[in-house]
Amino acid sequence: MGVQKKTRKFAQRDERVKNPPASAKQEKPKDELTTQAPQAPSNMFFTANTALGPPYHVLVDTNFVSHAIRTKQDLLTSMMDLLYAKCIPTFTDCTIAELEKLGDKFRLALRMAKDPRWERVRCSHSGTYADDCIVDRITKHRIYIVATNDKDLVRRIRKIPGVPLTNLSAGVLGLTTALRLQQESQRAQQVLIVAKDFPNTTSINYASPWAGAHYRPVPGSTPQAVREEKQAQQTYKHFKTVAAQEPGAGVQIVDGVEHLENPPAEYLDPQNIRNAYAHLDGFRQLTAEECPAPTKWGVCYKSVAVNSPVYCAWLLRQFILKGGQVREYTLGDVMEAFYLAENVKTVINCSGMGFKDPKSFIIRGQTCLVRNPCTMTLTRQNTDGSWSFCIPRPLGGGTIIGGTKQPRDWDPNPSPQTRETLLSNAAKWFPFTPESGGKFDVIRDIVGRRPAREGGMRIEAEKVGEGRVVVHAYGAGGRGFELSWGVAGDVLDIVQGNGLLQKASL
Ligand SMILES: Cc1cc2nc3c(=O)[nH]c(=O)nc-3n(C[C@H](O)[C@H](O)[C@H](O)COP(=O)(O)OP(=O)(O)OC[C@H]3O[C@@H](n4cnc5c(N)ncnc54)[C@H](O)[C@@H]3O)c2cc1C
Ligand SMILES: [Zn+2]
Repeated sequence: MGVQKKTRKFAQRDERVKNPPASAKQEKPKDELTTQAPQAPSNMFFTANTALGPPYHVLVDTNFVSHAIRTKQDLLTSMMDLLYAKCIPTFTDCTIAELEKLGDKFRLALRMAKDPRWERVRCSHSGTYADDCIVDRITKHRIYIVATNDKDLVRRIRKIPGVPLTNLSAGVLGLTTALRLQQESQRAQQVLIVAKDFPNTTSINYASPWAGAHYRPVPGSTPQAVREEKQAQQTYKHFKTVAAQEPGAGVQIVDGVEHLENPPAEYLDPQNIRNAYAHLDGFRQLTAEECPAPTKWGVCYKSVAVNSPVYCAWLLRQFILKGGQVREYTLGDVMEAFYLAENVKTVINCSGMGFKDPKSFIIRGQTCLVRNPCTMTLTRQNTDGSWSFCIPRPLGGGTIIGGTKQPRDWDPNPSPQTRETLLSNAAKWFPFTPESGGKFDVIRDIVGRRPAREGGMRIEAEKVGEGRVVVHAYGAGGRGFELSWGVAGDVLDIVQGNGLLQKASL
C-alpha cells in the first residue's frame, strides 16, 4: 500500500510528465485497485434498449439445443411462439466447438446447431468456454436474447441490472397482469407477485376461486359499459386460444344461452346488442318462439366456462415457470410494496378492493356446486330482476348453480333457503341430464364477495413519490375473469406509456 501511495503522489505532482514513455505506462503496481466502470452502450436510453426489436437475434447455448432435441421442440417455431416475432437462432463458434468436443452423444445437437438457416457469429478470442463467450458478447453488443437452460448462465446474465415490478395480488387480475408484463418485458424486468392469498387458499375475501365463471356480455352505453366491452372482447379472443392450446388450464368453449323475462332498457337497443355480442362466435338473437314462456328475449352464442381455482393455479404456474417470483405477505398499505424487493419503482395494485377506497364495496354471491354434469351455460333473468345461471366447471369440476347478487351484504354463511331456491329453479329451467331426475348431488355451498366499485374499475397510474408509481387495477365486481386479459392490456399500456417497462436489454 505504501509503495502504491507514493507512486500516485509522484505522478500527480509532476505535471511536466504529460506523455510518459510507453514503458512507464505498463509499470502498474501489482496490487493497485482498478475500478472497471462498464460503459453504457449508446442505444441504452436509461433502462430501455432501443436496439432490441424484431427480428430477434437469439444466442443459443449448447444445453438449450440438446434440451430442444430431448423435448422434440422445433427451435425456430418455439422461439417465435414465445416472442411473437421473427427470430434468428444464432450460434457462436465457441458453442459449436463445445458441441463438437462433447462427442457422439451430441451429434444430433451439433447437426441442429449447424443448420444453414441459422446465423453463425465468428469468434476471434482465445479459448472456447462458450458461457464466457456469450456473456462477453451480450455485454458488448446489446442486440441479443439468450436461449439457455443453464442456471449459472442465467444468474450471470441477470446481473445486468433490472428494475423489478411488484404486482400486488394473486387474484385473476393480478396473475393475468403479471403474466402479461412478464411476457412483454421478456424477462428483462423481474416481476414479483405479493399477496396474502394464493390459488391454493380459500379466504372469503379472495374472490377469484369462488367465481362461476362464465363469459356473458353486459350490454350498455355508459362509459364503464363501453370500456368493459372492449376489455371483454380482448379476453374472449385470448380465452379461445387458451381453450384450444392449453387443455390443463380449465378453460372451455361451451354453448351459451340467455333467456330474459323482463329485459332492461339496455337490452332493447339493437346497437347496444351488436356492440356487446357481435364478436361472439355463433351469436344469434332467439326468435320469440324459441324463448320459453314467460321469457321474452333470448340470445345464443359460444361462451367460455372457466374452472376458476384450476385456471388461477394454472396462471400462477405459467408465471413461475417463466421465472416469476412470488411472496406471501399481507400489506397494511400499498406503499409497503415498494420495500419488499430492491429497487422497486412500480407497483401494480390488483388487490380487488383497493386500499380503503371509499368507492369500493362488496357484492355477496351465493352459489351451489353440484356434481350433476351440464354441457352448456344458461342464464335466466326473472321478472323480479333476479338472475339464475348454471355454469359447467371444465375438467370434471361439477356445475355451479347460481346465484345471488347482494351489495354490501357481509354474511359469510350460506343460507339454506337460498340453496333451496337456487336448486329448485335449476331443476325447472336448466338442461341437466334426465338421470338427475330434478335431484342434485351437492358438493358444497359457496359464498363469495365480488370486489365492486362505484363507476367501475379503477385503472390508472398514481405518482406516489419521487420515481415511484402505483398502477391501480381493481374493482372488477362480477366480471373479473371475463375482463382479465383486457385489463392486463390496459395496465400494460399505462406501464409502457409511462416508460416503466424495461425490455430485454441483451
Ligand atoms: C359467486 C361469484 C360468481 C362469479 N362469477 C363470475 C363470472 O361468471 N365471470 C366473471 O368474470 N367473474 C365472476 N365473478 C367475479 C370474479 O370472481 C371477480 O371479479 C374476480 O375474482 C376479481 O379478481 P381480483 O383479482 O380483482 O380480486 P381477488 O380475486 O379478490 O384477488 C385479490 C388479491 O389481492 C390480494 N390482496 C388484497 N389485499 C391485500 C393486502 N392487504 N395484502 C396483500 N395482498 C392483498 C389478495 O390476497 C388476492 O391475492 C364471480 C364472483 C363470485 C363471488
Ligand atoms: Zn466465442
